[in-house]
Amino acid sequence: MRWIMLALLLLTGCDSSPELPPLAAGSELVVLTRNSPTTYYFDEDRPTGFEYELIRAFAERHDLRIRIKVAFTLEELINGLAVGEAHIAAAGLTRTSARSDRFIATQPYLTQEALVIYKSGQRRPRRLAALAGRDIVVLAGSSHIELLKSLQAQHPRIRWREIRAADSLELMELVAAEKAELAVIDSTEFQVQQRLYPRLVSALSLSEPEDIVWYLPRLEGAESWADAINQYFDDIDETGELKRLQQIHFGNVQYATRIGSLTFQQAMRTTLPQWQSMIEAVAREYQMDWRLLAAIAYQESHWDPRAKSPTGVRGMMMITQATARELGISNRMDPRQSLRGGARFLKNLLRRLPTDIAEPDRTWMALAAYNIGMGHLEDARVLTERAGLDPHLWEDVRQHLPDLQDPAVYPSVRFGFARGQEAVTYVDNIRHYWSALQLTGLDEYRLEPPITAESILPGDMENFIPLTL
Ligand code: GLU
Repeated sequence: MRWIMLALLLLTGCDSSPELPPLAAGSELVVLTRNSPTTYYFDEDRPTGFEYELIRAFAERHDLRIRIKVAFTLEELINGLAVGEAHIAAAGLTRTSARSDRFIATQPYLTQEALVIYKSGQRRPRRLAALAGRDIVVLAGSSHIELLKSLQAQHPRIRWREIRAADSLELMELVAAEKAELAVIDSTEFQVQQRLYPRLVSALSLSEPEDIVWYLPRLEGAESWADAINQYFDDIDETGELKRLQQIHFGNVQYATRIGSLTFQQAMRTTLPQWQSMIEAVAREYQMDWRLLAAIAYQESHWDPRAKSPTGVRGMMMITQATARELGISNRMDPRQSLRGGARFLKNLLRRLPTDIAEPDRTWMALAAYNIGMGHLEDARVLTERAGLDPHLWEDVRQHLPDLQDPAVYPSVRFGFARGQEAVTYVDNIRHYWSALQLTGLDEYRLEPPITAESILPGDMENFIPLTL
């Protein structure tokens, strides 16, 4: 009881009546979340993640300072919110009737389905009834348990094991290692993490699309917070910012093929280690993310410094003779020279792009130009504008690049025909490799759960990371 009172005091300052303080500029916004690639994580030493970015923009709008508290299980998160440990829980939480009875839900800002996943080669369940008798894992405290319970009413032989973790990656790990047959996972989490486990596939949906919401404790004043949040969600929906964030965090995964992914995973383990320090050193020289340079090099040559193509491009970064001359490369087969040439070339393109193209779109467009040439990219941007779309957004330009090979279209553009579809695939692949490299690196930046569960009282999260904007 003592810690409940303490928690309430924390929220209300000196006043002991349980209420959320008014949203006042300069005050602190305490947010409960979980550490996972779809919510909140560190990229190198920079906090990021879909939930974190949403929170940050909301805090900026109201001039609040953020304090993030990380829960190590969903149960811990829900309990923490129940005792008023935070103003908001933002953690990819599905709206359920049980939760909405206890807490105030905002309007949804994302939807996702609950998927049943299995390992390819194993027995695939094709109908809900086929889940009976199988070994299913699910996150403890997850909305998916409510789903399974309602299914159990019709299929009493459905059983599951509840795993105490904050992240469905743990479930995927169990299925991949054949320590569980099936797992129930949210579709977005699955898409984002699937590149780490390319053998895992979705068998069926356990639900219709479900709403993902922020939850607030049922305290006095919380309704007005919810109103402000709903207004914020409406606004970012209107301006396209919400869609942009969804694209950045979840968007690029749908284009990757599973087979390509498997080969890449293997190369990451077997070939990359021998090149990584050289790639890192060159990336440092050119002040770019080494994982981006590694992703381009993989796309170009599969990290083979002796790669050759029939069209005369050579080496780790597959540079043409003409470009090599321009960049002062004497030996294209020298991996360090090749990497330097590629990095310089990309930096050049990034500089030459119109200044009003913002990141990350800027990088995607530079990559497209790397593949197809700046002139053709410009043509595709003109076509994008002609179609009433935005030539500053990669997603829009991406749609019009393939028009450069349409005989009804290309005669009308300045530089004529180009293999636009290839450029799209090129960028999609690099994005996929880049994020797989980022995800793999994530382990190093993962927060470790407390050593013993007993060392913390429920809701008493000493393990938060304080952040100040
Ligand atoms: N969306 C789920 C929930 O709200 C968490 C994610 C999961 O269980 O995979 O409980």
